[in-house]
Amino acid sequence: MFRVPFFVRRESMTDGQRTANSYNFIVGQAQFYGRSLERWDMKIMMLNEVVQDAINEQINNELFAMYSYLSMSAYCEHKQFRGCAHWMRLQSQEEYAHAMRLYDFLIVRQGRVKLRPIAQPEIDFASVADTFQKALAQEQNVTQQINSLYELAFNEKAFAALVELEWFINEQVEEEKTARDIVYKFHLVKDDPAALLDLDRELGARQPAPATAPA
Ligand code: MG
Repeated sequence: MFRVPFFVRRESMTDGQRTANSYNFIVGQAQFYGRSLERWDMKIMMLNEVVQDAINEQINNELFAMYSYLSMSAYCEHKQFRGCAHWMRLQSQEEYAHAMRLYDFLIVRQGRVKLRPIAQPEIDFASVADTFQKALAQEQNVTQQINSLYELAFNEKAFAALVELEWFINEQVEEEKTARDIVYKFHLVKDDPAALLDLDRELGARQPAPATAPA
């Protein structure tokens, strides 16, 4: 970058020198304020690294649940249980929404979203009933993950994260109940084809969840 020597008086500069001088001054100012803005940002960033990492991990868990339900949906389609496949596909979309809720929370709190690879879900199941059994086990597992995350946020005094995670704690109560009810129905109908077709029709009537307010 062209710099004008400090001993050259402004009146005796050429137009080009004057322009370069003003430009250097502006760049210098921007760099100075930019650096102090960065420091200021660091100060107001409320989420510490430990909480951020744990939330990023949960984003991955929710995306895995999304992938897992999609795989269950594909299996149900394969077995010609279109209603069950529809139910699983909607559930997969809900899991994506859960991941995005945490994703948006990190952004709002000036954290960093760090996406990781999503593990391969199970692709073969014993039966359609088995997919719902696995769905229930998965929800119980996610409840544990959310509880651990809540405990960590509590210990780290991440109060805004606690409020956000309360939504997830309530959601898990619902998710477990819904999955358990369906597993119970599969136990009732067992291998009765007519009853299975009815159950498939009932699950096929599931409506998409209304969009939740942004985190
Ligand atoms: Mg979820």
